[in-house]
Amino acid sequence: VCWSERGGWHRPRVSPYGPIQLDPAAAVLHYAQEIFEGLKAYRHADGSIWTFRPYENAARMQRSAHRLALPELPSEHFIASLKQLIAVDGDWVPTAPETSLYLRPFMFAKEAFLGVRPAKKVAYYLIASPAGAYFSGGVQPVNIWLSSEYARASKGGTGAAKTGGNYASSLLPQAEAYEHGCQQVLFLDEGTYLEELGGMNIVLVRKDGTLITPESESILEGITRDSVLRLAADRGHLIEQRKVTLDEWRDGAASGDIVGAFACGTAAVIVPIGRLLGEDFEIVHNGPQAEELALSLREELTGIQYGRVEDRHGWLVRLDA
Ligand code: PMP
Repeated sequence: VCWSERGGWHRPRVSPYGPIQLDPAAAVLHYAQEIFEGLKAYRHADGSIWTFRPYENAARMQRSAHRLALPELPSEHFIASLKQLIAVDGDWVPTAPETSLYLRPFMFAKEAFLGVRPAKKVAYYLIASPAGAYFSGGVQPVNIWLSSEYARASKGGTGAAKTGGNYASSLLPQAEAYEHGCQQVLFLDEGTYLEELGGMNIVLVRKDGTLITPESESILEGITRDSVLRLAADRGHLIEQRKVTLDEWRDGAASGDIVGAFACGTAAVIVPIGRLLGEDFEIVHNGPQAEELALSLREELTGIQYGRVEDRHGWLVRLDA
């Protein structure tokens, strides 16, 4: 779909996958005026195709659009684009357990204009790619690296928006994490408060079952995190969404009050965190409590997504009907 200041949203169409043409002066190539979303299509046992809480992705994309001075795509257009793609590509939604069709909606400034101001011509696209099981040999805890030198986003910046620039700034610390044998990087806010990982939110588990997750203006509000915390609240867990310092985590782990942590996001769903490593710094958890909780919440959430567990919150939206 295209958008122009004068014509609004127009020309929706489905076309075969292939390269797109851009003017070398297209604003997105210079000023990164760009946003995206990520969600999945799941095939249920009866063959029907569903997606999970897409109105939340549509709303988050609108918030991202606002921050990046892009036009808001109405939710009904967003949902229609998912259904249109499934109408032609439904065969690609796999049938094996834990596999899905990853859906990537994105919007960028395509106006050829080198001045720094919001573009007057924008394009919205949706592409899709089959996604295999994230963990082939069962869910394994991940180790995470504490980035002390770099931040992903700062207060008043674009941290809460899903925009490429945030990911560009996380690439170098992510590479640093790999060098230290860690799969993900943890970002802090001003060196004190926990924020999030490169592509996932973080939740700490207390011994009494309370779940603590960072409140911050500069993190992405994950739809998986919100869903997991609601499932946990349904089971009677207390939920605290508030500022959390690294010291609180370290001291809590040392005293045994914090028994572990997990990360969550659309791609991996929920992953237990094994160790947190940094320069001269380490947090290690002992005992199975947090890992067992993470895996059981994961089972329930994927159960809902794949149609094995009752969708009591009404989170699923059918895409092939
Ligand atoms: N934080 C970041 C930086 C992310 O890229 C993602 C993945 N979209 C998340 C958190 C988790 O968000 P969601 O659960 O909506 O996938």
